[in-house]
Amino acid sequence: MKLWVDGGLQDAATARVSVLDHGLTVGDGIFETVKVTAGRTFALTRHLERLARSARGLGLPEPDLDEVRRACAAVVDANPMKLGRLRITYTGGLSPLGSERGDTGPTLIVALGEAGRRPDSTAVITVPWTRNERGALTGLKTTSYAENVVALARAREQGASEALFANTVGQLCEGTGSNVFVVLEGRLLTPPVSSGCLAGITRALAVEWTGAEEADLPLDVLERADEVFLTSTLRDVQAVHRIDGRQLPGAPGPVTAKAMRVFDERAASDLDP
Ligand code: PLP
Repeated sequence: MKLWVDGGLQDAATARVSVLDHGLTVGDGIFETVKVTAGRTFALTRHLERLARSARGLGLPEPDLDEVRRACAAVVDANPMKLGRLRITYTGGLSPLGSERGDTGPTLIVALGEAGRRPDSTAVITVPWTRNERGALTGLKTTSYAENVVALARAREQGASEALFANTVGQLCEGTGSNVFVVLEGRLLTPPVSSGCLAGITRALAVEWTGAEEADLPLDVLERADEVFLTSTLRDVQAVHRIDGRQLPGAPGPVTAKAMRVFDERAASDLDP
């Protein structure tokens, strides 16, 4: 496996960054996960735009998006696979121990791993911890993911693949690595970005392609929704068949099944050149 670090391809087994990289010592970095199907990325431009937005939000130097594109292309070419997840990581770079960044400039790492095709439906749990809809990092895709790791571990303990958070005012927000949609009284709804969720790229495409509406939703909408689905780069559109103890028989329901179909068709014809 070859990955990109320090301006060129290296063997994954021996590639190194400094132990004093700020991304490691204080979690001061950003990332993107991009789907790769048979050597072609999906929605790379949108991912790079979000990478640049996250960099601005974190006060990191503006990434050179041409270099990031070159790195992605080189890594995809060097590692042929059917379905892959390209991981772009961009961190604060080498720094003396402490909270200030050093002046060596950021670290760019691009790596590719195999991705499995996701099951059509999955179980989720809700967790008692909250997303902060007004934090300094709200809406940024940062490498500070430890809270998501803890929530996901709890989900796994309960036989689920995702954990959903409310925000600090009790509204449904998002999962550890996905956005959430509900069907309620015949309407397809998803929390707005102001709920504190990440502006997911799959979410944006699903809204565009299905006509879903944004709405503030109390967390307990999950007890009443007729259908629920998740969106993310690696899940695409994925139905939910259990939320905590509640079964949603027949998942994917009709609205979800249609969203899955529309997404699969559009995404397949929209792969990057
Ligand atoms: N929310 C969070 C916290 C995420 O980390 C992700 C993706 O990793 C998403 C939502 C879904 O975003 P996307 O559709 O761009 O993958």
